[in-house]
Amino acid sequence: MPVSRREFLEKSAAVAAAGFVPRLPEAFDLTSHPIGIGSGPLVLPSRARPCVVSSSNGIRGVKVAFDRIVAGEDPLDAVIAGVNIQELDPDDQSVGLGGLPNEEGVVQLDASCMHGPTRRAGSVAAIEDIATPSLVAKAVMDYTDHIMLVGAGAKKFAKAMGFKEQNLLTDKTRQDWLRWKARLNANDAWLDHDDDVKIKFTTGTINMNAVTATGDLASVTTTSGMAWKVPGRIGDSPIIGAGQYCDNLVGAAGSTGRGEANIKTCASFLIVEFMRGGLAPQAACLKALERVVAMTETRLMGPNGRPKFDLEFYAVAKDGTFGGATLYSGGKFAVCDERGARLEEAAFLLRR
Ligand code: ASP
Repeated sequence: MPVSRREFLEKSAAVAAAGFVPRLPEAFDLTSHPIGIGSGPLVLPSRARPCVVSSSNGIRGVKVAFDRIVAGEDPLDAVIAGVNIQELDPDDQSVGLGGLPNEEGVVQLDASCMHGPTRRAGSVAAIEDIATPSLVAKAVMDYTDHIMLVGAGAKKFAKAMGFKEQNLLTDKTRQDWLRWKARLNANDAWLDHDDDVKIKFTTGTINMNAVTATGDLASVTTTSGMAWKVPGRIGDSPIIGAGQYCDNLVGAAGSTGRGEANIKTCASFLIVEFMRGGLAPQAACLKALERVVAMTETRLMGPNGRPKFDLEFYAVAKDGTFGGATLYSGGKFAVCDERGARLEEAAFLLRR
C-alpha cells in the first residue's frame, strides 16, 4: 500500500528518535523527494554488520573489499577494488583481460555500479580494449552528467580519463575462439581439429555488493558477457536495475548468468524492492527467480517445462544480512564478514 508523504515523514521521525538517522546530503529536502517509500516496512537498522557478498569467483575480492570497508573506505571503492582482481586476472575468462570474445574474436565488456550514499550510478557497455570497465563505469558516474556510455564513445571517454588501452584477447581466449569458430560448421572453410579440448559456450561475470558498519551500500557488476555473442550485444550487467541495483535505505543486489532472462525482469531492482517490502535477502532472491521462470519464453523451456539456462542472484540488506540463490541447485556464492571469507551454498528454485 502506498505511504503518504506525511506518513513517511512520521515514520522517518520515529526511526530517527530510535537512534538511526539516514545519511542524506545536507541540502536534501525530504518534503519534495519522498524517497524510500515502498509497499512495506523500511529497513533502517541502527547499526549494520559490515558484509560483502559476491558471485563465487569473487572469493578473493570479497576479502579485499571487506578489509577496505572495515578500514573506513567508501563501499563502492571497496567493491570495485574487489572485482578489479578478476578483471585483471587473465585466467578468469568471464571478465576483463582474458574474457571470452564475441563471434568476431573481439572482447567487448560491460559493467555498471551504484553508490548508495549519494544515490548515483554509472555504466559502460560493449567497451573494447580497457581491462577495468568497472572503473570506467565509476568514472562515468563521477565525471559526467550521464549514466551510461557505450561502444566507441565509452572507449574514447576512458582514454580521455587516462585508462590504458590494451589487447584483452589472451592467447588462451584467442585459441578457444578459433576452436569454437572451426567447429561451428563442419562444411565451412575452417578445418576441424581432432583435439579433445572442450569448447565452452559460457556465461560468467562478477557481481559484488557491500554494506558498511554505518549501513552504507554499494554494488558493482562487470563482465565480458556471453561468449561468442553477436557483436554489439549488451547483457544485463551494465543495465542499472538488472545487473545490479542499490538503494541506501534498503539493500543491494546483483546477478550473474543469462543476462537476457534478467533484463526482462529487472531482477536486481526487484530483489531490492522485495527486501523493502520486508523479505530477507535470500527469500527476495528466490522470489525474483520465480518471476524469471514466469517470464521465460517457450523456446527457452526444456521438455520438462524448466528453463534451459541458469541465473544467480546475490543480495545484502542494510542490516548486514545477506543471501544468494540460483535457479538450479548446486550453486555457491562468496561472502566476507566478521567470520572471514568463504563460499556458501546458494538457495535454489529447481533441483538439477
Ligand atoms: N550476465 C552476463 C551477461 O549476460 C553473463 C554472465 O553473468 O554469465 O552478459
